[in-house]
Amino acid sequence: MNRLIFLVDMNAFFISCEMAKNPELKGKPAAVAGDPQKRSGIILAANYEARKFGIRTTMVIHEAKKLCPELVTVPPNHELYEKKSKAVMGILSRYTPVVQQNSIDEAWMDLTGCEKLFGTPTEIAENIMETISRELDLWCSIGISENKFLAKMGSELKKPRGITELYVKDIEEKLWPLPVREMYGIGKQTEQKLMDYAIYKIGDIAKSNVEFLKSNFGKYGEELYRLSRGIDDSPVTPNPLFDNKSISRSTTLPYDTNDIEYIKNILLGLAEEVGYEARKSGYKGKTVSISIKYEDFTTVSRQKTVPPTYLTKEIYTNAIRLLETNKNKNKLIRLIGLGLSSFETDESEQLSIFELVEGEKNAHKEETIEKTIDRIRERFGNKKILRGSMLKNDKNI
Ligand SMILES: [Mg+2]
Repeated sequence: MNRLIFLVDMNAFFISCEMAKNPELKGKPAAVAGDPQKRSGIILAANYEARKFGIRTTMVIHEAKKLCPELVTVPPNHELYEKKSKAVMGILSRYTPVVQQNSIDEAWMDLTGCEKLFGTPTEIAENIMETISRELDLWCSIGISENKFLAKMGSELKKPRGITELYVKDIEEKLWPLPVREMYGIGKQTEQKLMDYAIYKIGDIAKSNVEFLKSNFGKYGEELYRLSRGIDDSPVTPNPLFDNKSISRSTTLPYDTNDIEYIKNILLGLAEEVGYEARKSGYKGKTVSISIKYEDFTTVSRQKTVPPTYLTKEIYTNAIRLLETNKNKNKLIRLIGLGLSSFETDESEQLSIFELVEGEKNAHKEETIEKTIDRIRERFGNKKILRGSMLKNDKNI
C-alpha cells in the first residue's frame, strides 16, 4: 500500500513568531538578529518583506541595513520559538500520532489511511495550514508524497504558504531539473564533488552509474542514487518524549578574554538554559561537559561524570570546576560552551547515590526552588530571577 507522508515546514519561523507576538511588525521588513554591537550581530531570520530587499540569513546587520534602512530588528527569543514549536507539533499530532520532528520548525507526518477521516491529501493539508494559522498566527508550507524525502523536497518547492504534491511519477518533471545543491541532505562539499564529476542536476545523479557513485561517495553515493529516483523507505518515527542525547548551549564572547569572573557569569547563563531545558524534559544527566574555543581557534572539550542532575546549580558548579582545572591561562577565550548528557529518567531518582550521601533534603529543596523559578519564568519570562539568586550562592561555592 502506498503511504501518505507530509512534511510541514514553518515559513520564516523565528520572525513569524515575533510577528504573531507583536503584530506591529506585520507588513514591515523585519528580522530576528543578534546584538549589533557583538559578533553575533547577524540576521537569524528575515520575514518575506525583508527578503524582497535581498536580506538573507547570516547577513551582517549593517549590510542588511544598507539594503533596507527601515529594517526593524528584534533580538532572538528562543523560549518563545520553543513554545510555538511545541504548539505546532501539538496541532499536528491531532491528525496522526505518527509525527517526527525534524527541526524546531518542521516535522514529518504519516497520514496513511487518514483520507477517510479528513479528506483528500490536499484537503488535509489545507486544514492543517488553516488550523496553524488560526490558532498560532503562523504560516507553513506542506509537501505531500509517498515518502519522507519527496515530501521534504515538495515542501521546498512552493514557499510561503505552499501545498505541493510530489510523487515518484512527478520527479522527472519537477525534481530532476533542480541543481544538486537543492537536494535535501547535500552540503557544500558534496555539491562541489558532484560538480567535479559534471553532475549538476538531480537528474544527473539519477542517470549516473550507481557503481560509479558508490566508488566515489561510498554508501552515501548509493543513497544519493536512490533518493534522486524518489526511492525512500525510511519510516516516519515518532519522537520519544525526549530523545536528545545531550542538551548544550554555547556563546561566542563579544570580545576575547581571560577574565575568569566574566566567563563564570557567562557559564551561569548557559547552565541556567541547559538546566531549564533538562528540567522541562524531566530527565537528569550524568555528564557535564564544557568546551572552550581560544583566540587561535583551538578548541578543548572536557567532561565530568556527576551524580544525575538537572539542577542549574549542580551543572554550574561542575562546569566551573572543569573550567578552573582545564583552562589555559596564556590564551584568551573566544567561545564557551556547556553541555549535559548521559540522561536517565526521572524515576530512577531513588537510586541516586548522591541523594543518599548528601541527604535528600538539600537536593529536594534546591529542586523545589528551581522548579518554582521555572514556573515564574514561564509566566513572566523573567530571566533575572534565577541569575540574581545564583550569583549570591556563587560566593559559597
Ligand atoms: Mg525548516
